[in-house]
Amino acid sequence: MKEFNIALAGNPNVGKSTIFNALTGLKQHTGNWTGKTVEHCTGYYIYNDNRYTITDLPGTYSLSSFSREETVTRDSLVNGDFDCVLIVLDSCALKRNLKLTLQVLSLYDRAVICLNLFDEAKRSGLIIDHKKISESLGVPVVVSTATKKRGLTELKTACERVCCAEYNCTKTELVRKYSPFEDDSEIIKRIFEECVSSSGVNIVQKRTEMLDRMLTSKSTGIPIMLLMCAVLFWITAVGANYPSAWLSSIFEIIKEWLNYWAITLHFPSFVSGILIDGVYTTLSWVVAVMLPPMAIFFPLFSLIEDAGYLPRIAFNLDRFFAKCGAHGKQSLCMMMGIGCNACGVTGCRIIETKRERIISVLTNNFMPCNGRLPILIAVLMMYFAGEAFGFTASVKVALFLVLILVLCVLVTLLVSKLLSLTLVKGESSGFILELPPYRKPLILKTVGRSFLDRTVFVLGRAAIVAAPAGAVIWLCANVYAGDASLLKHCTDFLDPFGRFLGLDGVIIMAFILGFPANETVIPIILMSYTASGAMTDYSGYEQLFSVLSQNGWTATTAVCMIIMTVMHFPCSTTCLTIKKETGSRKWTFLAMAIPTVSGIILCAVTSHIMNIFI
Ligand code: GDP
Repeated sequence: MKEFNIALAGNPNVGKSTIFNALTGLKQHTGNWTGKTVEHCTGYYIYNDNRYTITDLPGTYSLSSFSREETVTRDSLVNGDFDCVLIVLDSCALKRNLKLTLQVLSLYDRAVICLNLFDEAKRSGLIIDHKKISESLGVPVVVSTATKKRGLTELKTACERVCCAEYNCTKTELVRKYSPFEDDSEIIKRIFEECVSSSGVNIVQKRTEMLDRMLTSKSTGIPIMLLMCAVLFWITAVGANYPSAWLSSIFEIIKEWLNYWAITLHFPSFVSGILIDGVYTTLSWVVAVMLPPMAIFFPLFSLIEDAGYLPRIAFNLDRFFAKCGAHGKQSLCMMMGIGCNACGVTGCRIIETKRERIISVLTNNFMPCNGRLPILIAVLMMYFAGEAFGFTASVKVALFLVLILVLCVLVTLLVSKLLSLTLVKGESSGFILELPPYRKPLILKTVGRSFLDRTVFVLGRAAIVAAPAGAVIWLCANVYAGDASLLKHCTDFLDPFGRFLGLDGVIIMAFILGFPANETVIPIILMSYTASGAMTDYSGYEQLFSVLSQNGWTATTAVCMIIMTVMHFPCSTTCLTIKKETGSRKWTFLAMAIPTVSGIILCAVTSHIMNIFI
């Protein structure tokens, strides 16, 4: 078996990740917008008994400027020892894609060109003579539709022939004449004119223009965006309710069964207490409260991402960010933050200037991530949706969530403005954002991938934290120092501060203990309340509501809980990511301090005002 190294290069959003995944069987994140692949990734496939290792380089438009992706890609190509470079092109945007192609060919002789998105090119009425392109450039050219796995075998064969030197890549006159540092658009124009013609019927463009007129217009763009958010949240709230209750009753049955066996097998009460009342109960709460909303929200969000709507949101919000001295692409990072703030922070790499990147990193945590969204849904469902947890309640929850999200965006804008006037002074740099065509998302694949990638991953992480947290809390609640448990001592200590913020000591402690994963905040609160008092088992929002109300929760507590959920220090993973991305303790500290201080001030003010009126 021989081994070969292949580099995968291309402009952003040309289907590189899709090809990479199809060839290697890995599951790199795909999404219909520019700049999401910020790190390179390797995988391999075996073909005709040879092993091919593929390195997926960050998508870039050229190699001649100095943005982070371009430097990484250029350095990898110059320093890497590749047997072949597979250059992926968007068949619908050949003119633009040929620039990078020619630059790569001036560095590497051995290459294969893949004209991907060939289905879209056909629908756009383009007729591409790929054999002629191959003759012009002196390398094999393969056409593909990666999403339908068309052209992949041809691609593997072409790479094999180039790697095994069966195909002799010869630098043609055109490639030799091309100079990356001069304006050689003439050469590109010539190739384009010789190899591409048009049938005149461009369905894709017509569809894109029609949708863009609605989705990005000044009058309808933002209302449609808010409506979409409301629908997304509504489906999440409605859908999460039932599985949440089912899961809790299943966990309840298992718990009874576990208790029965613990008694039958004469487990010491201390051991069964830690394992069943501590670890098992907390874990089951995390799964029952957190899993359903996540499992519904994320796949839906991924579908919207895949359809190409996220850049339109960035486009709609751009003018507001520019006014605040921030970068329009920050809104893309914010949307990634709704998924997971650590991903949102990493995503800030798409912002070119350091100043605007820092603003985006420091404010990302104002977007409630998936660990916090279910907390918001649960609190809204219990305190603001009315008595019955049915249809009207879910509509109310969705509308409240949209309101919270709008407030989060406003806070982000305000803090961005303050930062751009103080710590990271400067003007907005302005940017060109590529609006990709709308694409029909691959529903099953997207839903499946998003469930596995995001939901299971996040839940797994939460569970890893929840199990020891459950044991610790149970111990704290059952080990006595003097006449009160350790837990009671801690929460009593924090109580005056908590009350000042409209909360209580237990809630403050839950946020502190929830630092590794916010998903554990509600379970910790429940555990703390129930472990020290009468144990009530959670079986849906009604039960949850009764536990909280018995422990003194009012509408004020609920409002302050919502504020604190949105505004407190990021989770440990996000903090580590911020440290890694900024390389600075100062910025990491500020990223923790800014939301926490804002949350403390807002909670104190809100609770005092509400206490006057209620
Ligand atoms: P990357 O940024 O180059 O890694 O691009 P991705 O692999 O994330 O693909 C961008 C978008 O194009 C995704 O929505 C893919 O589902 C879609 N896509 C990729 N290849 C094709 C294709 O051949 N045809 C069509 N219609 N869509 C594709």
